[in-house]
Amino acid sequence: MQCTVCGEENENEYCDECDKILKEIIKRVGEERWSAIDDSSYIYPMIQRAVKGELTVNDIINAMEVED
Ligand SMILES: [Zn+2]
Repeated sequence: MQCTVCGEENENEYCDECDKILKEIIKRVGEERWSAIDDSSYIYPMIQRAVKGELTVNDIINAMEVED
């Protein structure tokens, strides 16, 4: 299967790198708030940029707060 975030061929739903960023985001925003997001796919490009080091988890969370 492919990583849901970056499309990289992978054994799990998310590859290790995207999973790491995703877990960090969920830890910071909290499971409850995370699960309240209907469609988190708009965050995926930001996660890809975070993997590349172009964004921080903080940047993503700030962007998410704007969305609310
Ligand atoms: Zn990935």
